[in-house]
Amino acid sequence: MRRRVFSGARPTGRQHIGNYLGAIQNYVALQGEYECIYCIVDVHALTTLENTERLQSDIREMMLDWLAAGLDPEKSILFVQSHVPEVMELHTLLSMVTPLGWLLRVPTFKEKARMQPHNVNYGLVGYPVLMTADIVLYKAEVVPVGEDQVPHLELAREIVRRFNNLFGPTFPEPQPKLTSFPLVMGLDGAQKMSKSYGNHIELAASPAETLELVMTAVTDPARRYRSDPGHPEICNVFNLHRFFNPTRVEEIATECRTAGIGCVDCKRLLADGINSMLAPFREKRAALANNEGYVAEVIATGARRAQVIARETLAEVKEKMGLLWKPDV
Ligand code: SF4
Repeated sequence: MRRRVFSGARPTGRQHIGNYLGAIQNYVALQGEYECIYCIVDVHALTTLENTERLQSDIREMMLDWLAAGLDPEKSILFVQSHVPEVMELHTLLSMVTPLGWLLRVPTFKEKARMQPHNVNYGLVGYPVLMTADIVLYKAEVVPVGEDQVPHLELAREIVRRFNNLFGPTFPEPQPKLTSFPLVMGLDGAQKMSKSYGNHIELAASPAETLELVMTAVTDPARRYRSDPGHPEICNVFNLHRFFNPTRVEEIATECRTAGIGCVDCKRLLADGINSMLAPFREKRAALANNEGYVAEVIATGARRAQVIARETLAEVKEKMGLLWKPDV
């Protein structure tokens, strides 16, 4: 039997090329080896979202990108966290075995509390418990994570160990599947590509929009004139060529160092590479977007399939915790 993978991602709307290279392509690859459950975690988003006007359209746009990129609802369970409300119940039950001190020590809680001092809500503290519930509700054994997320998963494993010690073996301890996500810098060349920095290129952007955005990218600051030799190793445009023009990387580096190519032409080349690599994705996405009701159907089917597993786990948990009503006792 194939091992089960779980991963959740916040609803951030249309995905950008950093999301694709950093996570989505890995999600797609895992489908061949594991039984995958991928979830858009809308409840987690509420811990920091104060305006939810765009939440539903963000979920739809994100799911469209996932599907167009190759996540297959026939192979994986694709759903939205709150559509399987059992996760909230399990979160409450797991919170009873989670010492508050463990949660208050989590660095991301402290960081979030610093970032939104006007809204240090309970959800921020309980975030790791809800995350644990997300994983163990489906008895997932494997969670794909980057190096920086390993401590979060370790906390989930501690909660699982504590529950299993108190109530008997119930959940597998989820194992991290370490993945080296390439660091994709934004067009500003200074920060990681992110919507919040506005330095991104959406996967679904048109070829003309892509070209326009690439033209704004920061390059080697020492190359002020066309005749100046460049330093590709410090240029983010060059870094993006590695992903989108992998067969021409050496040639581009040489041309840059010898001033054989100017930055404008180099950027055009990059935009061409991005546009040709994403052409099949964009075509599929447009077709899916035109297929009225398709995304809603995928999400509803995913929730139904997830709920079958969730109900079974929750019944077992309640029984072990002594919550099942036994009238003859
Ligand atoms: Fe960067 Fe290309 Fe300009 Fe060289 S030629 S500095 S790699 S944009």
